[in-house]
Amino acid sequence: MTFDSMAIGAGPRATAREDADTRLDTRTLQQLDSAHFLHPFTDHGALGAKGARVIVRGDGIHVWDSDGHKIIDGMSGLWCVNVGYGRTSITQAVARQMDVLPFYNSFFNTTNVPAVKLAEKLAGLAPPGFEHVFFTSSGSEANDTALRMVWRYWQLMDQPERRIVISRRNAYHGSTVAGASLGGMTAMHAQGALPISGIDHIEQPNFAEHGRGLSEAEFGLLAADWLEQKVLELGPDKVAAFIGEPVQGAGGVIIPPQTYWPQIQRICDKYGILLISDEVICGFGRLGTWFGCERMGMRPDLIPFAKGVTSGYVPLGGVLVGERVARALVERGGDFNHGFTYSGHPVACAAALENLRIIEDEKLVERVARETGPHLKAAFARLANHPLVGHAESIGMAAGLNLVRRKGATVHDCEPFARDLAVGMVCRQHMFDNGVIMRAVGDRMIVAPPLVMTVAQIDEMVERIRLCLDLTLNDLRQRGWLD
Ligand SMILES: *Cc1c(COP(=O)(O)O)cnc(C)c1O
Repeated sequence: MTFDSMAIGAGPRATAREDADTRLDTRTLQQLDSAHFLHPFTDHGALGAKGARVIVRGDGIHVWDSDGHKIIDGMSGLWCVNVGYGRTSITQAVARQMDVLPFYNSFFNTTNVPAVKLAEKLAGLAPPGFEHVFFTSSGSEANDTALRMVWRYWQLMDQPERRIVISRRNAYHGSTVAGASLGGMTAMHAQGALPISGIDHIEQPNFAEHGRGLSEAEFGLLAADWLEQKVLELGPDKVAAFIGEPVQGAGGVIIPPQTYWPQIQRICDKYGILLISDEVICGFGRLGTWFGCERMGMRPDLIPFAKGVTSGYVPLGGVLVGERVARALVERGGDFNHGFTYSGHPVACAAALENLRIIEDEKLVERVARETGPHLKAAFARLANHPLVGHAESIGMAAGLNLVRRKGATVHDCEPFARDLAVGMVCRQHMFDNGVIMRAVGDRMIVAPPLVMTVAQIDEMVERIRLCLDLTLNDLRQRGWLD
């Protein structure tokens, strides 16, 4: 297999400065990288031995590495680049704002024009009842903010003993102390005294893992009822909020049955518990609706967001605050003693405004709902026929498939590979080497492509994925890991 290669830095928008930066050869960059740059979620011993892949350029759905390989970015960077790379109108909006006002804070009764415009824009796009937004610079900070708001809310409601936030195992809510605590990643908890007090977890709504013997609809209700059991165990007067991603992203594109979220909503309503829909991935069109809660059928009180709001061009996050919390916090809360230097950063807000204009003008949300989402779903359903694939699922522009040792009649009868073989990483390497980025979550391979990906590009991506599954199959046979 060959893929299009391109001289580094020779793209249409490459500048003299980029040229100088990228003229360092790959090996030198890797050595400097390994010597000085501590990467997130990375085993540095292994990275040093192998060398990082250096990404130097992006355009549309593609990125290029420092050896000139052109790669389909099936992960939108990291669930971020909804409008694709190389959108010069965002660059221009950012440059203009940098010239006019690169920074001002929004503490002490001050504000700035892009932040005002963006807050108004987001209130218009959000589900009914969301008129307020609090800005942060990341998804983790957004979830920290949501937690602070929940605790403040119950204080203002004269029920300060309501402090516990319930989340799910294998949830991802960021990597600050509160974010990692709210998340359900046991490997993250294990490296510190996490979760912090006041956070509890229930099992995730993963049909493949827990649904044996049930229909998906039955399992959805059962998994939601785990919340009610937990509430009763802790005491309803102690529970402040429930937090969940509409579809778990980092956990492996875990799509709950349709019965799950409406039942979670009923339980939250029954006990007066606040509902937080972490839309850092699902917001801004990923599921074919502006927000994932609309697709999944719940009415949250708080919506943390980040990633897709700027397509990752500039860091920005925030929390959309629904009526119930806003009434307490805004109308009678007095000072809310929380905020960040970069809350409402004018440059980030300018990037977001232009990014949202693109999503609206190009009707990307509608395209995902009507055209590309269904196309991706059909393509992944066909991949499920591959001998290495146990089952495959898809929703909007997010999809996942499980690599299995032996296929079964149902998702519950597949025989998995031994965990320590790390088959997902073997597969991921073949993907990368053949021009497509998929992420491995254990032995589940996932994609979340840019929302601008066309139907033809989906076909090309899925063709490459199938080829790489073949290569992985042969590789595993040669290693003696398959009969
Ligand atoms: C990425 C992510 C976060 C954390 O966002 P950061 O910007 O990395 O802090 C939080 N929640 C979800 C659902 C995410 O996918």
